Amino acid sequence: MLFLIGTKDSNVKNGFISNEKCPKCKNENTLNFSIFRKYVYVTIVPLFPVGKILNIECTNCRNWFYYEDLSPEAQEKLRNEKLDSSLWMFSGTIILILFAIYSINNYIKNQNESDILIKNPTVGDVYNLKFSNGYYSTFKIDKVSADSIYTTHNDFDAYMPYDVDDLDKTENYSNRKISYSKKELLLLHKNGEIIKIRHKVYPLETQKSEYKIPMTK
Ligand SMILES: [Zn+2]
Repeated sequence: MLFLIGTKDSNVKNGFISNEKCPKCKNENTLNFSIFRKYVYVTIVPLFPVGKILNIECTNCRNWFYYEDLSPEAQEKLRNEKLDSSLWMFSGTIILILFAIYSINNYIKNQNESDILIKNPTVGDVYNLKFSNGYYSTFKIDKVSADSIYTTHNDFDAYMPYDVDDLDKTENYSNRKISYSKKELLLLHKNGEIIKIRHKVYPLETQKSEYKIPMTK
């Protein structure tokens, strides 16, 4: 994906400067002002505002003026112009912060879950793996003995960590049988080679029957 970064101007306020003479044609009440807010955007999402731009134009002689051309009274009036809150200009920043909080929470939750599950490997658990070559894959536990686990490895690898859950399909586990001692398993987890553990809970018969919709005659 291509990210385009730049700045844009947004017109946030327009009005007349009352009781002020045009510095050029000396007409009164002819000065029109526009305030623009400059903001940084990524692609189309605004990140944050970076400054203000002020345009002053005389509606009579059509000349443009700088803030410094005005009388101190008019300058003060313009300084006191209330601008609406431009919260939307921060929307990209807010999205980024929320995403970071979500990712960190998810990471901690995953870590806590796998810290518990790794100590009690159970038949049917699916482990997400990160290999030293940078690929990701899974194995599922077929059998657990007093000191070892017996697994079937997934036939496929993924390039991205978020793709690895999609590999977890029954037909992807064929014949790559590998066993680990429980000590080895703890070590793999400690070294970050086991990145996620999913403990599958199979619904009981009684729970299943609750989902049956009674037939009406
Ligand atoms: Zn003028």
